[in-house]
Amino acid sequence: QKIELAAPYKLELDQVRYTYPGQSKEILQGISLEIDQGEKLAILGKSGSGKSTLASLLRGDRIPTAGSIKLNGISTSEFGDQMPDYIAVINQTPYLFNTTIANNLRLGNEEASDEQLWDALERVGLKQMIEKLPNKLETMVQEAGLRFSGGERHRLALARVLLKNSPIVLLDEPTVGLDPITEQAVINTIMGQLADKSLIWITHHLQGIDLMDRVIFLEDGELTMQGSPKEL
Ligand code: ATP
Ligand code: MG
Repeated sequence: QKIELAAPYKLELDQVRYTYPGQSKEILQGISLEIDQGEKLAILGKSGSGKSTLASLLRGDRIPTAGSIKLNGISTSEFGDQMPDYIAVINQTPYLFNTTIANNLRLGNEEASDEQLWDALERVGLKQMIEKLPNKLETMVQEAGLRFSGGERHRLALARVLLKNSPIVLLDEPTVGLDPITEQAVINTIMGQLADKSLIWITHHLQGIDLMDRVIFLEDGELTMQGSPKEL
């Protein structure tokens, strides 16, 4: 059954706990958090603190072992394969499929017109580069693969997310492996393009967090601190 939600979109985590199947260690130990539409939230934590686990719960890939994650009052467990309609994810190593640039971009939105693809590419700063390729949007990414730097791959992934039009964007360390200048450029692009979308930015370092509304710290599966970047 199709779930129909309308803006404003609010995510509510209530005492979320998670233990991986067959494991004894509880990875998330009672996380409570509300994220309002349009809010830009950074989740900071050391390696192993449970950030990616939390991300997989938010995107509905895993269901909390206790507590709940609700979007506009509906539990993620009820969304099934519809969760990606509401939450778009960019991972550490954005994946490009061995097909054309256009097909890669349309993964998020099959109906997008060429014009919309160019618009998204322009917004992430890739239009000029792709216009210069002989086959333009129909270039195979593998062909262009050699020419796509890490930063450009992240920009393509971001263009895909922009085309998708989901109200929430989740970034799990999307800039790991980029040099600081490229990283800042990707962060600026992301922040400039999200407007009223909510952003959940998972990171293990402080670069870029001054642009966020709120920062929370995850330590051993617990939220230990939160506030505006200035307060912290
Ligand atoms: P990093 O900064 O290195 O990405 P993280 O904060 O994202 O770390 P998680 O990947 O959420 O951390 O891992 C938290 C804990 O859960 C770790 O102890 C890890 O070993 C464990 N873990 C992660 N994935 C699984 C899994 N599929 N099965 C069992 N345990 C897992
Ligand atoms: Mg991780």
